[in-house]
Amino acid sequence: MRLPLCRRFKSCVSLAIAVWRQRKTNCYQLKNACTGRGKDSPTLPIPDMEQDPILFAILSLWLLAFGACVGSFLNVLVYRLPLRKSLSYPPSHCPACGHPIRWYDNLPVFGWIKLRGKCRDCKSPISVRYPCVEGFCGLLFGGVYILLVQLCPLSLWVLFGLSLLPSLLSATVLAIGLIAYDKKN
Ligand SMILES: [Zn+2]
Repeated sequence: MRLPLCRRFKSCVSLAIAVWRQRKTNCYQLKNACTGRGKDSPTLPIPDMEQDPILFAILSLWLLAFGACVGSFLNVLVYRLPLRKSLSYPPSHCPACGHPIRWYDNLPVFGWIKLRGKCRDCKSPISVRYPCVEGFCGLLFGGVYILLVQLCPLSLWVLFGLSLLPSLLSATVLAIGLIAYDKKN
């Protein structure tokens, strides 16, 4: 005898939840074994991406976007600092025609793709280095966080804060390297 459709669907959902729970338990047991926590302390689950995948995804994406913005600021820093220009004034503008860059053209990576690497007003080329630095910084910030979550049995929020330090340090080293490279060439 075949079960009605809604009951078959319900049993499928229950099975999926049971498989997911089992996978989660296995993951905690493995982490407990790795971190030296015995069977006597199973009441202390390790908060990680398995425990709250939505928060993990949101924090990773936020860091990706934040990293891209840091990369955008880095581009300004690398261009203006050696020329001893102000970092905030005048606002971002095309170095060829001097026209201010509209906010929607200034979005990290996407702005360059949308303009196909050319100024909207004078069509002079915009270096491919700008979106590369922005994309790299985005991946750096997101990547460091994902790596820390995989390696450290700490809460997602603590790792979020901790990941900022090596990411910002790496971005600073990148800025220094780019300034030195530009000076040489
Ligand atoms: Zn222009």
